[in-house]
Amino acid sequence: MNKAKGTALITGASSGIGALYADRLARQGYDLILVARSAAKLETVAEAIRQATGRKVDTLPADLAKPSDLRLIEARLANDRSIAMLVNNAGVGSTARALDADVDTMSAMVALNVEALMRLTYAVVPAFVARGRGTIVNIASIVAVAPEVLNGVYGGSKAFVLAFSQNLLSEIEGTGVKIQVVLPGATATDFWDIAGTPVEHLPGEIVMRADQLVDAALNGLAQGEFATIPGLHDATRWDAFEAARQAMAGELSTNTPAARYLAA
Ligand code: NAP
Repeated sequence: MNKAKGTALITGASSGIGALYADRLARQGYDLILVARSAAKLETVAEAIRQATGRKVDTLPADLAKPSDLRLIEARLANDRSIAMLVNNAGVGSTARALDADVDTMSAMVALNVEALMRLTYAVVPAFVARGRGTIVNIASIVAVAPEVLNGVYGGSKAFVLAFSQNLLSEIEGTGVKIQVVLPGATATDFWDIAGTPVEHLPGEIVMRADQLVDAALNGLAQGEFATIPGLHDATRWDAFEAARQAMAGELSTNTPAARYLAA
């Protein structure tokens, strides 16, 4: 068994990417707290990991889109001193176009993908900063930078995850706390059925296996990377994108309108 590393709390751990994070982090030596709505599915994942690794695995069934459930997980993150990692993975997507989408479904997506991720992060950051260590992994998506690809609310929710993580990176500098944001491309999980387009309908060359995605993301974390895009082969693309953004950032706010907006 690997050396104990503390506890990782993983949201959306009952299936897909979250269940694989659970397996891999237990093998790295973490005890686990697994969160999702389905108690039965969580227990199946937990028992398989206990058997395979001998690690302590707790399950906390919760609907993170429901404020009362969310507050319970926030309290656990704020008060359980064993927690060394938060993986904000729970999320839902949609492939519905704006004209066809149900607005209440869109609100529920924002509650989970944005509100819950933000509140759980705010719950754990003060505890991690006080201890001078801790790791936050936020699962965004490539749609954070390609919002035209799927549903716009989904893209916007993942752009939030990226921007929120970028801000946090700057705010926690020097505290010993680490943050990583992961931008998966299409990954073969139940996500696609729930989002409205079976994964089999996508071209095979753009779909990654979930185990490959999680192993690559964990390699990125081990390398100390902030933004990890497992499917992007040419890393200089992201570096150039970031360099352009940061170069422009200093020029965005000035005390005069640009010449092109001045009346002739
Ligand atoms: P998944 O297999 O559908 O897993 C989603 C997980 O979130 C499940 O464990 C689900 O469990 C949980 N969940 C859903 N609603 C919840 C709620 N209200 N409260 C608590 N837990 C909830 O999909 P996945 O692909 O692994 O998705 C994981 C993350 O990756 C998501 O944030 C997704 O946006 C992101 N992502 C996925 C892809 C992809 O192509 N698959 C690409 C980019 C990013 P219960 O149903 O039991 O609650």
